[in-house]
Amino acid sequence: MTVDTAPDLNAASAATEANPFAAGDWATPFGLPPFESIRPEHYVPAFAEALKAHEAEIAQIAGNAEAPDFENTVAALERAGQALDRVASVFFNLTGSTTSPELQAIERAVAPQLARHSSAITLNPQLWARLSAIDPEAEGLNAEQQRVLDRTLTRFRRAGADLAPEAKTRIAEIATRLAELGTQFGQNLLADENGFILPLDGEEDLAGLPPFLRDATAAAAERGGTHSHVVTLSRSLIEPFLVFSTRRDLRARAYEAWTRRGENGGETDNRRLIAEIVALRAERARLLGYDSFAHFRLDDTMAASPDAAMALLRDVWAPALRRAAEERERLQALVRAEGQDFALEAHDWRHYAEKLRRAEHDLDEAEIKPYLPLEGVIQAAFDTASRLFGLRFEEVADVPRYHPDVRAWQVQDADGAEIGLFLGDYFARSSKRSGAWMSAFRSQERLNGDIKPIIVNVMNFARAPRGEPTLLSFDDARTLFHEFGHGLHGLLSDVTYPLLSGTAVSRDFVELPSQLYEHWLEQPEVLRQHARHYRTGEPMPEALLKRLLAARTFNQGFATVEYTASAIVDMTLHLSAAGEDGLDVPAFEADALKRIAMPTEIAMRHRSPHFAHIFSGDGYAAGYYSYLWSEVLDADAFDAFREAGDIFHPETAQRLRRFVYGAGNLRDAREAYTAFRGRLPSIEPLLKKRGLAA
Ligand SMILES: [Zn+2]
Repeated sequence: MTVDTAPDLNAASAATEANPFAAGDWATPFGLPPFESIRPEHYVPAFAEALKAHEAEIAQIAGNAEAPDFENTVAALERAGQALDRVASVFFNLTGSTTSPELQAIERAVAPQLARHSSAITLNPQLWARLSAIDPEAEGLNAEQQRVLDRTLTRFRRAGADLAPEAKTRIAEIATRLAELGTQFGQNLLADENGFILPLDGEEDLAGLPPFLRDATAAAAERGGTHSHVVTLSRSLIEPFLVFSTRRDLRARAYEAWTRRGENGGETDNRRLIAEIVALRAERARLLGYDSFAHFRLDDTMAASPDAAMALLRDVWAPALRRAAEERERLQALVRAEGQDFALEAHDWRHYAEKLRRAEHDLDEAEIKPYLPLEGVIQAAFDTASRLFGLRFEEVADVPRYHPDVRAWQVQDADGAEIGLFLGDYFARSSKRSGAWMSAFRSQERLNGDIKPIIVNVMNFARAPRGEPTLLSFDDARTLFHEFGHGLHGLLSDVTYPLLSGTAVSRDFVELPSQLYEHWLEQPEVLRQHARHYRTGEPMPEALLKRLLAARTFNQGFATVEYTASAIVDMTLHLSAAGEDGLDVPAFEADALKRIAMPTEIAMRHRSPHFAHIFSGDGYAAGYYSYLWSEVLDADAFDAFREAGDIFHPETAQRLRRFVYGAGNLRDAREAYTAFRGRLPSIEPLLKKRGLAA
């Protein structure tokens, strides 16, 4: 169900006094947003006021009679828009993690409005003239100020500041339309995810499911409906269902629904939207003088060109295909050994892979989970940060929360200095988009006072039945470490200017802090201490721990193929679909996959109609390769600790904090990595980590 009346953003608010966003700084613990008193009707007037205030600030900066300098132009821009940041950060966090038809309607109206607002700034000729006139040499700017100036000029130029007036008009139209399309894409996807359940009625339908999964499907059924157990399209339910269900027909149905999200015809179908998004991105890139959107996008990354990114994807693709073919043979043999004669299909892979894992490594997912209660994994992530960086975490009660599930921890440095606040929002719900992410309610900076960050990690773990602790799979635990790594990137940020804060780095560098953090979870030393049985508190038996770690490269052919195929299709779409209208998305995807000899038994990790990373916003567009690019870095970076002979080696950790976790965008990515490691990385540690080395 959706609400179709678009709110009028220009309507003046009658009740400004009662609006929590009108209050300036909030007198709440840690300056958290006063979530309990924020209601949907507050956003529209708050956005209207904040936009007006920001416009006035911009007009003053652009029309300043004094000669332009860093302070009155660049720093002034950095100081402007605080009211807008405040309302936008609350609003967009909540539309991701606890949305509603009211918020969705506001989002559809606000997204294009914000795009227009942003274009009006970056395409303002007076402002651009002032920015272009600043001479960093003459002013004696420090290194951070020079970096801010440089990044500001790049940001304006890439948004079209240098273009002729007609081109600027078109660029602004494109930005507005793209904001509308991205918003609709995300809302369609959520509707499709909520529109499907697979009911499991009776023992036959539950065949093969271990107790934890019976519990989780029962807990999912509790939230409305008349069935005793259901599978939803939440990854944390559907993946284990595909692993354990012995009902091939049900696996096929669940898999079909999962891989058809966004492609079901009707109002929520995303295919038309994708065709328009891809065409508009290509047009924008051409206006800015680039061959394709991919060329435009990669120009401002560590990889620097689509060729460099594609070369890495191809380097990994060939060995991954070989590995996947070997894996498929072994799975097919297992099917035959069971006396069956069907050819393995995509909905069979996870099921037989788990059987093979049990046979080859004597490892059972259901045996591992009791040692990975959510609470224990959270503490493991905190303890790792304590041992690396000296951080301390203390849970706080009585703080405003946007949902009862949200937990909050105060974070302090080794010397007791305040670092910031960390929020954890761990369980799946229908008002939350799928996936896992880190975001900020407030980013660190020192320009507007000593501003401490408020960072949130959002997950989609399947909740245990009432009164039981939630048990994680090893993959879930890895996701928690991953997002916590992003969280530390936000928390440890130590910069003056907001533009450079925390995760505001090149997209193909931003997965380094997160993926690097995953390495500590896989260390015996960490598992021995933190992987403890949820009932007895006993550590994971040493034999189980060894088997778990020995199986790390198991099924990596599959995992690498499903990821890399998505990254190649993303790049191919943004390289070659140069503005042709009426792009047939499924046909394009099928053709791109055929050209790389995609095995039919493996699907892309994200097919285009539900590829939110690249279509519900620009974030990872022509940028899904970033995970692999960053993995070259993280595999090599962790070796620095291995070489030092201590996974918590103090000096290495100190350099890591100084040049990576704490550095925001103070330095170019290559420079930052080299400062930490003394050199740029090679691909070998990555191939070794994935078990793909020759
Ligand atoms: Zn990430």
